[in-house]
Amino acid sequence: MEQRHKDTLETDWQFAFPAYIACPKCTGCAVITKEDKSANFYDTAHLATCSHCGYNADTKRSRAFEQDGSLLRWHNNNFPLWLKVPCAGNAICVYNPEHLLYLESFVSAKIRERKPDEKYGWSNKSMISRLPAWIKSKKNRDDVLRAIDKLWIMAKKEGLSRPVIEE
Ligand SMILES: [Zn+2]
Repeated sequence: MEQRHKDTLETDWQFAFPAYIACPKCTGCAVITKEDKSANFYDTAHLATCSHCGYNADTKRSRAFEQDGSLLRWHNNNFPLWLKVPCAGNAICVYNPEHLLYLESFVSAKIRERKPDEKYGWSNKSMISRLPAWIKSKKNRDDVLRAIDKLWIMAKKEGLSRPVIEE
């Protein structure tokens, strides 16, 4: 595991698709994808499909998601994210394996680097800068890493594999 994490200023939005959610019909793992992958966030349908029960709907609403004090949840119809586990009196949830890997690389790094954006300087837009303090806290590091391991197990059971990072 990489020991150094550089905040490359990814925003939550970049991780939002596909978003694995608890299916509103059967509570199994369903997925939200953009109908047109190259379209901007609001310019295409956000299709929720569930391979367990056949649920299928466009879930797009004007406001996509919000932070709920733990991590993010998919805000459309308040669908809870499927990759979610309790942790340190809160909960950690991520959209998908790429999001989880990014979180893991941050939490497991011994050195956390942040650099100002060339254009915007020190902003508070990146996912890392917006992570709740309890996730960033050294005191909770082991608990958070255990929760991340549980999320990998959940993902694997659903056939969602760990992304391979090319060096
Ligand atoms: Zn379902």
